[in-house]
Amino acid sequence: MNAVLVVNSGSSSIKYQVIDERSGERLAQGLVERIGERGAGHVVHRAAASELARDADIPDHSAAFAAIVESFVAAGTPVDQLGIVAVGHRVVHGGSEFIAPTLIDRAVADRILDLAELAPLHNPGHHAAIVAALGVFPDLPHVAVFDTAFHQTMPAKAYTYALDRDLAAEHGIRRYGFHGISHAIVSRRAAELIGRPVEELKQIVLHLGNGASMCAIDGGRSVDTSMGLTPLEGLVMGTRSGNVDAGAILHLLRRGVSIEEVDRELNKRAGFVGMTGSNDFRDVRAAAAGGDEAAKLAIEVYVHRARHYLGAYLAVLEGADTVVFTAGLGENGPDLRALICAGFEWCGLLLDPARNEADVSGSRVISAEGSRITVMVVPTDEEAEIAQQSIALVASL
Ligand code: AMP
Repeated sequence: MNAVLVVNSGSSSIKYQVIDERSGERLAQGLVERIGERGAGHVVHRAAASELARDADIPDHSAAFAAIVESFVAAGTPVDQLGIVAVGHRVVHGGSEFIAPTLIDRAVADRILDLAELAPLHNPGHHAAIVAALGVFPDLPHVAVFDTAFHQTMPAKAYTYALDRDLAAEHGIRRYGFHGISHAIVSRRAAELIGRPVEELKQIVLHLGNGASMCAIDGGRSVDTSMGLTPLEGLVMGTRSGNVDAGAILHLLRRGVSIEEVDRELNKRAGFVGMTGSNDFRDVRAAAAGGDEAAKLAIEVYVHRARHYLGAYLAVLEGADTVVFTAGLGENGPDLRALICAGFEWCGLLLDPARNEADVSGSRVISAEGSRITVMVVPTDEEAEIAQQSIALVASL
């Protein structure tokens, strides 16, 4: 058995999966929610055909891991009987220093907490979970897999903002990019699907989920991406604005809107939810179909922005072999895919409407026979990628 416990933690939740790395099979999975909310914790655990759910008092991340260990016992398979050889932790921000999966010791854990300055919503929760997991599983190797690492191959011209260079250096301001775990596995699986080595391909990946980003990938290496210093830049998202003139933020601040309020407006109350009242594309789509003008405009803005980046990355890569859609909207939005791809026939991108609209899941080609660019839908699987990268690092030790 070669299983990995994959941990995806937030400030108030921990999701986990035990993945048999060779077969990809999920041996168990679950989540602990509402960590730190007095008496309101909730624990769900699934293994084989059974599901256990219970409420519990979960004051902190250590209590969450204790609850996870209890869940394995209650389900009849204690965690030490699953052949787990590594714990893989998803970490959103690795700054400039973490360019590959990294074995976690106390110093690495401390650096992940230091980087909370750049990812205040994410890294503190990762750090709390890592410290707790090291306590509960002291004999297993723990690996941090970073969402930023894949983008560390970007050239300086793509990651540099045109700011005073001393100021940028002093405050660590540059493009880092996110969703790297997803962009990595999706671009690799897309290459497998068409039977070509990833090293030969120019690829554009559209990760369109509640958070959304695009990536230009040359020979398997990220050369540009739409998210920046933080996961706020770029595409329109469920609750985030994506690109906004930085002057608009100064304008709001000068008009007396507080920093916290501006943060909330841009990160939580913008994007689809800001423009339509719902962050879920299914609601926006239904409203637009019912004639709601705000919903129709929101879809137009969304598509317009994605097309901007598609055009930009065709320029950056000097053409593309594949365009790959993934994540919630990318995998389930044939209407969005058609709108984003429309009018790109000039560069050899031709969608096949029947393939695009076919009600099937799994990786598939949706471009027409003879399309110079192969357009695909490839489901993302960040947990499988974390498991694979963790095993690869542990095997190399
Ligand atoms: P993700 O962050 O990848 O889990 O994507 C979640 C988002 O995908 C949801 O908020 C929806 O907007 C969208 N989504 C999920 N399922 C569908 C569907 N069947 N049709 C359209 N959009 C969907």
